[in-house]
Amino acid sequence: MIPYGKQQITEQDIDAVVDVLRSDFLTQGPIVNRFEQAVAEKCQAKFALATNSATSALHIACLALDIGQGDIVWTSPISFVASANCALYCGASIDFVDIDRNTANMSTRALAEKLALAKRQDKLPKAIIVVHMAGLSCDMVKIGELARQYQVKIIEDASHAIGGAYQSEPVGHCQFSDICVFSFHPVKVITSAEGGMALTNCEQLAKKMEMYRSHGITKDTTQFQQFSSNEPWSYEQQLLGFNYRMSDLHAALGLSQLNKLDDFVAQRNALAKNYRNAFEGIPIGFQQQSDSTLSAYHLMLCQVESDSKLDRDTLFNTLRAKGIGCQIHYIPIHLQPYFQQLGYCQGDFPVAEQYYKTCISLPLFPGLDKKSQTQIIETITKLLS
Ligand SMILES: *Cc1c(COP(=O)(O)O)cnc(C)c1O
Repeated sequence: MIPYGKQQITEQDIDAVVDVLRSDFLTQGPIVNRFEQAVAEKCQAKFALATNSATSALHIACLALDIGQGDIVWTSPISFVASANCALYCGASIDFVDIDRNTANMSTRALAEKLALAKRQDKLPKAIIVVHMAGLSCDMVKIGELARQYQVKIIEDASHAIGGAYQSEPVGHCQFSDICVFSFHPVKVITSAEGGMALTNCEQLAKKMEMYRSHGITKDTTQFQQFSSNEPWSYEQQLLGFNYRMSDLHAALGLSQLNKLDDFVAQRNALAKNYRNAFEGIPIGFQQQSDSTLSAYHLMLCQVESDSKLDRDTLFNTLRAKGIGCQIHYIPIHLQPYFQQLGYCQGDFPVAEQYYKTCISLPLFPGLDKKSQTQIIETITKLLS
């Protein structure tokens, strides 16, 4: 089976991890720091905090923004469940904003309407978690404007989008958001096996996320509230935090992979272009993107159009039977049983639901060879034309 996504690990990556195994630090040590600084520099953000997953990074992002009981957080229904769960971990309630069918990202029109209504009802969210679907940035200028107008915080769930650009600036520079989160799960653009990172330009948010990442403890004596700073063993727990630290082993892999980020994104874009060109005249649609946006192309999202000979389910099953490991991104979060128990119903976010019925992700990863891609393209062309 050709998978829909796959990591690419080189001898260089392996050596980087083995070097750490032979060093003094296994858990958070100097390599974590170097990985953080390298990502911050690459994305032009001031601060970066590495974590053991993007899910943890989203959680400490919410905590640092003081999201808690009584607060409301909005996200996109077309995402991985972690985009919504992070708010629930904090005791906040979650709601969704429908997507734009042309991009699969949160619709800024739906967002503007929902914010206006929420303001009238005095039910404004404290934060909005936008998701850059498949690596394609949301319209951050518009989202930033709305955030200022309604005084809401913005978290970017950029789990798909490291290496991408918006208005020719790297995703992660946080110019239009408070915090931006990346994932380094193996299927994502670069990997640290498990891992994530939270970026911000706000020193206070960075300090808070650092504490929440490690038990709510600070060792910075200038920050002490009670203990004496001249006891060298001292540390203070000031918040209820977690152990969400990344290890140096993971950071070594991530740092080594970061060297290849631009190459990976270029390869993903080239493969995506092949698909786009090959399917001209075939009832397959793609995410619309503007010229100043560079998608990191975590996923090759396609839409089976309504005039297609085969419906999505038939296409999916046929491709799988032929060894082409297509996938669906995503089942709308609000249709998951857990969220149905929270009161969401079929029909609540109709654009997302319609999108879900027609979406299919095709294999896309650096190292997908020409022969395999040609086979995928020919199979689909034959099935649909
Ligand atoms: C993968 C993913 C996550 C979670 O990432 P982990 O590093 O596995 O915790 C969160 N949000 C989105 C959109 C994702 O795709």
